[in-house]
Amino acid sequence: MQKEKLYGKTLNELIAVTKRIGMPGFAAKQMADWLYGKEIKTIDEMTNLSKKMREALSEEYEIGLMDPERVSVSRDGTKKYLFKVLNDKYIETAYIPDEERATICISSQAGCKMGCIFCMTGRQGFQGNLSSNEILNQFRSLPEFKTLTNMVYMGMGEPLDNLQEVLKSLDIMTSSWGYGWSPTRITVSTVGLISRLKEFLEKTRCHLAVSLHSPFDEERRKLMPIQKTNTVREVLDIIRNFDINNQRRVSFEYILFDGVNDSPRHIKELAGILNGIKCRINIIRFHPIPGSEFHSPEPERVTEFRESLNAKGILTTVRASRGADIQAACGLLSTLELNRK
Ligand code: SF4
Repeated sequence: MQKEKLYGKTLNELIAVTKRIGMPGFAAKQMADWLYGKEIKTIDEMTNLSKKMREALSEEYEIGLMDPERVSVSRDGTKKYLFKVLNDKYIETAYIPDEERATICISSQAGCKMGCIFCMTGRQGFQGNLSSNEILNQFRSLPEFKTLTNMVYMGMGEPLDNLQEVLKSLDIMTSSWGYGWSPTRITVSTVGLISRLKEFLEKTRCHLAVSLHSPFDEERRKLMPIQKTNTVREVLDIIRNFDINNQRRVSFEYILFDGVNDSPRHIKELAGILNGIKCRINIIRFHPIPGSEFHSPEPERVTEFRESLNAKGILTTVRASRGADIQAACGLLSTLELNRK
């Protein structure tokens, strides 16, 4: 029988475990300290729990950490780790070191339902939701775990399509009984699932990034099928009407595709639809995927696009392209692995 995993459980869930096993309530906090404050791999290492308690716990539970299966290392220091999840699926986790920061880009699902046409993960289709154990294991089992300064939910999957497990993982990351990170160190990226966005905004103070990619309905629909049912204007209305305090940063991700969404018409419309929202636009260079008709514009065009938006009062940055020599496009590495098996 497969044992249940303790790592990835919230304090409330650990309290439920103590009740189930017949342990005193305070043991839940002790377990959280071991799971998220120390670096143990077995229940037996929880030495402030009695031997009897540890034995009873071990009959049904395990810590549940799993090392990555493989790693690809880029010349620029970026690493892509491949983790096995859901028994036989693969997800990717990126480690992106910078001068002052070290960011982990984690996955929230194996594959994805959203079907964005420029995305390799989208091509895989949906294979399953990750548990909060599998989400946070990417963080805890990363060899560079102790050096990490920031976390982005921008890997495989749509985080708001797996909202409950994502919220659990954020609770563990930001609570004093968990890792105690400031929510401002964490960004969750979404295509904009309007039925879940409000709950996300209400329950966490983490930064929000919305994948925009075109300000025009018809064009965005072609790039991102989600636009058929969840229009970006509805997403913007939720953000506008929500009391987003100064601490939360809202950004819009914009992959520039040559000749598709990089014209002055796009700049004008972007400035129009984002009017009144305190935000920034993050321009991302397109990382090619096999058989794709899309290309990145020339670097001068990217700079021009950025400067035009800045001139219109929208803070716009260009994200540095990282890991180009190790299948930088999200989903490429895991697709190769799935095809290999
Ligand atoms: S871009 Fe994100 S939401 Fe769209 S298919 Fe890829 S993983 Fe899913």
